[in-house]
Amino acid sequence: MNYDVVIGLEIHAELKTKTKVFCSCKNEFGAKPNENTCPVCTGMPGALPVINKKAVELCIKSGLCFGSDISLYAVMERKNYFYPDLSKAYQISQMVNPICIGGGIKLSNGKFVRLNRIHLEEDAGKLTHISKSVGTLVDYNRGGTPLIEIVTEPDFSSAEEVDEFLKRIREALVFAGIADCKMEEGGMRCDVNLSLKPKDSVIFGTRTEMKNLNSFKSVSRAIEYEIKRQAEVLNSGETVVQETRKWDDAKGKNLTMRSKEEAQDYRYFPDPDILPIAISIETVAKLKNEMPELPQARRDRYVQDFGLPEYDAQILTSSKYVSDYFEKCVKLFTVPKKISNWIMVDLLKLVKEQEEFSFPISEEDFVEIIKMVEEKTINKTVGLQLMEKVIETGEKPRVLADKMGLLVTISKEQILDLLRKLKAENAKVAEDYKKTPEKVVGFIVGYVMKNTGGKANSVLVKELVGQVFND
Ligand code: ADP
Ligand code: MG
Ligand code: ZN
Repeated sequence: MNYDVVIGLEIHAELKTKTKVFCSCKNEFGAKPNENTCPVCTGMPGALPVINKKAVELCIKSGLCFGSDISLYAVMERKNYFYPDLSKAYQISQMVNPICIGGGIKLSNGKFVRLNRIHLEEDAGKLTHISKSVGTLVDYNRGGTPLIEIVTEPDFSSAEEVDEFLKRIREALVFAGIADCKMEEGGMRCDVNLSLKPKDSVIFGTRTEMKNLNSFKSVSRAIEYEIKRQAEVLNSGETVVQETRKWDDAKGKNLTMRSKEEAQDYRYFPDPDILPIAISIETVAKLKNEMPELPQARRDRYVQDFGLPEYDAQILTSSKYVSDYFEKCVKLFTVPKKISNWIMVDLLKLVKEQEEFSFPISEEDFVEIIKMVEEKTINKTVGLQLMEKVIETGEKPRVLADKMGLLVTISKEQILDLLRKLKAENAKVAEDYKKTPEKVVGFIVGYVMKNTGGKANSVLVKELVGQVFND
């Protein structure tokens, strides 16, 4: 039988705040176990939470990334359940009045995937299961760190759509400084809800949920696996059970974790310790003002306004830093494709495999070198040597080029003279050029270079050879 695939996502991202969401403990990855804890984030009775304004602002900004409506009135609620990584026995989250409502992302295939909401909540601690006899260790450092949860409508119909969407979410959150989304550190996690229905049926099937997938690859693999599994269940005449299934990436399959029948009633209610959040229109306007132009908008502009290939646009927007660098260069010297080539081929390789980097040369100096090459004051090879020296010494390109004797001092007239001289003195070369120019042009350029001590611009010489020898 033929099925339609229906997928909805719940995406958690850790917000980039200095401190936790309800206390002043540090929000950092990699501290010693339980180093960053206090009575509030370990859930001691009577401790009082105070909401972190920055976390609220970042949640608002995440909504602004994806065109959500920002609520002017939002409420934190208690979601009650017991688990050892949650010392209060409730998580402070949002239910009825989330900070962001609606919004969405248009995928490259034209489909608009709708967001249901984005809300603010706290993360739980981390359990490390050692063994049956030793037991389990708990680290509350992550407890009480701020998360946003992005909930989509069930609008996806393939693993490819999900993959593109997740990448777009991540690049926007990183670009806007909202979250680092380091998936390997658990900074971005994704729950996949998936169901099948008979082709073109309007009624959704029963869904399963796969929790806490933390790499793009495992999300795709988990989806492919679950589609197959559900299709087999339905084909054999059975029904899909609504349940949470745990994806085992090493084994490449998933297993029942808990079924919905055992699911708890979370008994959400407004947290009496935290006042409702009033968000003013002015605050939203101020935050909007702080938002950078996002990667997709930049890519569109690079292709349309600068005529760059999609490939270049993609690489240049791989980080905000590179994108900003590129734009500053283009402002200084409007040859976008040339600058793009230099950045992609010659600059990015200097920093490759570094997670956070800045280029070792200023935009001004970089552009100055490109200008010298474009003006044919130096050729590209010399330009690259010059760049190396500029990086090494920190001196200005033109000053350095002069010192190093790189500046071309041979004029076009002088080159033409040399070419005419060669033609007059060496009849064989002139003859050979008429028959097979490609075979002797190298010799001719070499002659000029030799007679100018290598100071002529070889590209220019090449251009001038025809002028003289075709006569
Ligand atoms: P819950 O709170 O129980 O997880 P929600 O209604 O909030 O349920 O939905 C959670 C996610 O499941 C959302 O991303 C939603 O799009 C998705 N979803 C809902 N129904 C289906 C379905 N039939 N098939 C696939 N995904 C679904
Ligand atoms: Mg859910
Ligand atoms: Zn604390």
